[in-house]
Amino acid sequence: MSEPSIFTRILNGEIPSEIIAETEDVFAIRDIAPQAPVHLLVIPKTQDYRDVVELAAGDPALLAEVVALARRVADEHSDGDFRLIFNTGAGAGQTVFHVHAHVLAGGLDEAGLGG
Ligand code: AMP
Repeated sequence: MSEPSIFTRILNGEIPSEIIAETEDVFAIRDIAPQAPVHLLVIPKTQDYRDVVELAAGDPALLAEVVALARRVADEHSDGDFRLIFNTGAGAGQTVFHVHAHVLAGGLDEAGLGG
């Protein structure tokens, strides 16, 4: 068993963070260093999958639950439109190897990627 990730520690109440939404298998928090007016993280409760590629291969239904909770929190915290980002690999900026989706919303550049 690997060391608990920062997100597992948040889930267990060992690191303070408000859980803004959850289902049986997935939870959402605010990113501590927001990169957009609304920047949320949607995270499977299990840390068995280190990135979205592993999650898609190992439990596609759980990936679908992540997307569904992203939809819900984007509706609840912004106008419903959102960008969903999975940094995959250190070279792409992934720092926590417990798969999580970034939900970016609110005042995003309409030009699209990189905006
Ligand atoms: P990534 O770089 O894609 O692995 O994303 C990890 C994200 O976790 C970063 O955007 C961090 O700002 C965020 N983060 C790290 N520690 C915390 C924390 N204690 N509470 C909320 N978000 C955090």
